[in-house]
Amino acid sequence: MELREDLTPFEAVNYFFHKAAAIDELSDAAVAVLTGTYRELRVQVPVRRDDGSLAVHVGYRVQHNGARGPYKGGVRFHPSADIEEVRALASLMTWKTALVDVPFGGAKGGVQVDPSALSTTELERLSRRYFGQIAHIIGPNRDIPAPDMNTNAQVMSWFMDEYGRRSGHTTQIVTGKPLALGGSEGREAATGRGVVQVMDKAVATLQMGAPRDLTVAIQGFGNVGSWAARLAEEKGYRVVAVSDVWGAISHTEGLDVGALLGHVAESGSVVDFAGSEPMEPGDLLTADVDILVPAAIGEVITHHNVADVRASLIVEAANNPVTPVADAELTSRGVTIVPDILANAGGVTVSYYEWVQNNQELSWDEADVNARLERKLGRAFDTCWSFYQAEDAAVSMREAAFALAVKRVVEAASLRGYL
Ligand code: GLU
Repeated sequence: MELREDLTPFEAVNYFFHKAAAIDELSDAAVAVLTGTYRELRVQVPVRRDDGSLAVHVGYRVQHNGARGPYKGGVRFHPSADIEEVRALASLMTWKTALVDVPFGGAKGGVQVDPSALSTTELERLSRRYFGQIAHIIGPNRDIPAPDMNTNAQVMSWFMDEYGRRSGHTTQIVTGKPLALGGSEGREAATGRGVVQVMDKAVATLQMGAPRDLTVAIQGFGNVGSWAARLAEEKGYRVVAVSDVWGAISHTEGLDVGALLGHVAESGSVVDFAGSEPMEPGDLLTADVDILVPAAIGEVITHHNVADVRASLIVEAANNPVTPVADAELTSRGVTIVPDILANAGGVTVSYYEWVQNNQELSWDEADVNARLERKLGRAFDTCWSFYQAEDAAVSMREAAFALAVKRVVEAASLRGYL
């Protein structure tokens, strides 16, 4: 597949897939199946506004591949959530679940909407209507949605309740629920926790030095970015720059993340945090730091800014943050990229634990969940790293991760008899 900057998000993921397909020597038929999707549902989501008018949104649920288990993946509410983005994210879920070896396939959902413009009651009506529209293709052993950008435990509660109205109480229909409704200890922090764990493993493996001597910039201060900042600081890293949709801040000595979380809880943004200097949001990605953690939207490191990126380690907390053109340039410069399908797999891993606990009608304590998560991601990192080493670093960490994931999916699909 040709390397171009104007690839759609799904084409970009498939660009990485094709590299893995070459390493795994896949047949043309396998490539045809895995570069497409199993099922795509587009739904109309009309929502009654508080003023009595009707707003009409478009929603999707895409199921990419289910060879290894029920479809699994979050739902995002975002203006950019068009079909190509949702396809890309669904396919990343297939590779992510295979790489960390949880028994799920890959799916994703999205509604094209700016939720910051909605009241809580409008958000509830939107959530319920969307979930009702996709209810016939999901199920606790068929497809299990979860939170993603701009959706959270409250939205999952409405989803579960809406499904229960039709099909009877079904705890396992979504993960990322609040504890009071069958959520798992540790799920909220899980993606950020996984990001910091693999970052720490990469730092040790690459012998980059002690955390206190390493600076980190984090783009995005939502669930994933804020937990990553908090846990990185706990491990001793110097978090020197963070940003959110309203702006960016920096402090060369390291931001006091605990105090920053308090400021965000009060003001709603990282901007104007006492003890920080304002920064141009675009400059965060090119800041003079050791480690860069994009934890917001996709396609933020592109041919426009890649030449200015100075970090030697990039940990992809967001899905799809580096375009293939930028990936090729960074890799040729010797920058190590821990790919999204490994770096942000902590969320779906603990989603799997939530689903297991729900199926067994019991609950594990937080230390148990965190220890299981650490073992699972540690194993996935080590497997990727050994593959990377075995190839004499002729492949990138991303290619190693994709090659391992694709091989597992192809094996399961072949055993079922459809490849
Ligand atoms: N939305 C998260 C992701 O991109 C979590 C998905 C899940 O828990 O199913 O991995």
